[in-house]
Amino acid sequence: MNGHFSVNVYGLSGSLVEPIKVIKEEGTYHTDLLMLIDKDDPEQSHFIYIYDLDLFLKEENNKKYHCKRCLHGFTSQALLKDHLEICKEYPAQAIVFPDENSVNYKIGNNQILHPLFVVADFETWMKVWRYFSYSQFKNKKSRFQISINF
Ligand SMILES: [Zn+2]
Repeated sequence: MNGHFSVNVYGLSGSLVEPIKVIKEEGTYHTDLLMLIDKDDPEQSHFIYIYDLDLFLKEENNKKYHCKRCLHGFTSQALLKDHLEICKEYPAQAIVFPDENSVNYKIGNNQILHPLFVVADFETWMKVWRYFSYSQFKNKKSRFQISINF
């Protein structure tokens, strides 16, 4: 390969697209290909030309700009450009999130059922201070703030 031509190759893992070989710097004439492997008959495997990767990876009605290295979609080209500065430092990879059923809590016997759970954030508390004023010769009351930091 020379500097004018470059090829990225993507594959399928189940129904998910994953990068197989992604070049760091695209040439003047760049092509994205999807490699389909027939496990029963590898000689029947072939490549499919991807005309527009953003359109190929589109899942919703909104236009997204996809990173060719991790296939993450961004809502603007500026966000994609910022992402590429970081992503190009790492090998090409597919980001796969676990499905909802795969995350669970297994130590149920250590759980305690609470009927009520309160979270409070106190930043200050008003303290009432009672004192005797000798100059006025009477009991007085004043308030001041106490800072509460955890
Ligand atoms: Zn990326």
